[in-house]
Amino acid sequence: MRKDSFLKFKKLLKNTQKIAIVTHWSPDGDAMGSSLALYLFLLKLGKKATVIVPNAYPDFLHWLPGHKQVINFQENEQKAGKAISSADLIFTLDFNSYKRLEKLGGLIDKAKAPKVLIDHHQQPDDYATYYFHDIQACSTCELLFDFIVGVGEKKLIDKKIASCLYTGLMTDTGSFRYSNVNAKTHLIIAELLKTGIIPSDIHGAIYDNYSLDRLKLLGYALNEKLKILNFYPAAYISLTEKELEKFNYQKGDTEGLVNYPFSIKGIKVCALFNETDNYVKISFRSKGKIDMNKFARLHFNGGGHINAAGGRSNDTLANTEKKFEELIKTLF
Ligand code: 5GP
Ligand code: MN
Repeated sequence: MRKDSFLKFKKLLKNTQKIAIVTHWSPDGDAMGSSLALYLFLLKLGKKATVIVPNAYPDFLHWLPGHKQVINFQENEQKAGKAISSADLIFTLDFNSYKRLEKLGGLIDKAKAPKVLIDHHQQPDDYATYYFHDIQACSTCELLFDFIVGVGEKKLIDKKIASCLYTGLMTDTGSFRYSNVNAKTHLIIAELLKTGIIPSDIHGAIYDNYSLDRLKLLGYALNEKLKILNFYPAAYISLTEKELEKFNYQKGDTEGLVNYPFSIKGIKVCALFNETDNYVKISFRSKGKIDMNKFARLHFNGGGHINAAGGRSNDTLANTEKKFEELIKTLF
């Protein structure tokens, strides 16, 4: 764990006015929850803050307070570039390598402002001036809660900030059921609930918001595309670009799909392969000590956590599946 002093940071924050916040490619609930919570918090401190995302994020996150002010780098490179080059401090949230920003990474690398990393993924790169990094944290939103409390501003956590933080804690823990959940997770949730947020509303906004196409894609994937390996307790689903198109695929439609095979007795490793127009996007999940971060880094140009990692392959979908099946023995 690398953690810089909150007090030292408090002073630095006092002397900064323009702040940029960036998060990873294909932002998820924790990425957007933490970025927007920080954004709203900084506004309350009287700062000028901007959230910049490398690309779009799913519709079911568009209700988050502050969403309308987010700059999508792919849609508005100029505006994003300006916000970054004029910032005197840059927060990088929920990732730890510029590789996770794709093209936006080059801009952040060039920017002169000091970087603050707040993240819970394994093996951070050495680019930041300040680190709030803890792989034990269930989510970046947990670290952001600690950060706000650490700089002595817990009183500023209002309903809007709390709903952003709740979103990240909920989505990164699979609604409080993965092995990254502990007493602290629930203590933070208890604090957030005191602001008046309604958990069932947030859950509903994220998980009861499927399109019919998305539900049918889930049914199709489970019925037609689930493969269980012969000699290892592992299963995967792979979807071609054509199949995704058939179900009118929208960003976020396969989120959570990778986990379904875990409901089969004994399954310890799951994978999901999604074919896109220029690469195969991969998700890995495991139970217990099976290290998917290492596996994704070694073989699939990716990384993440022990039990949840991602990567990509520039090979064909069929070859990617074959490679996975051949390498599975290294996990058991
Ligand atoms: P997901 O499978 O939900 O996309 O991602 C699982 C975890 O792995 C997340 O914490 C995510 O940030 C991380 N992850 C996903 N894709 C990549 C990747 O290509 N590279 C790295 N380093 N991490 C990834
Ligand atoms: Mn996260």
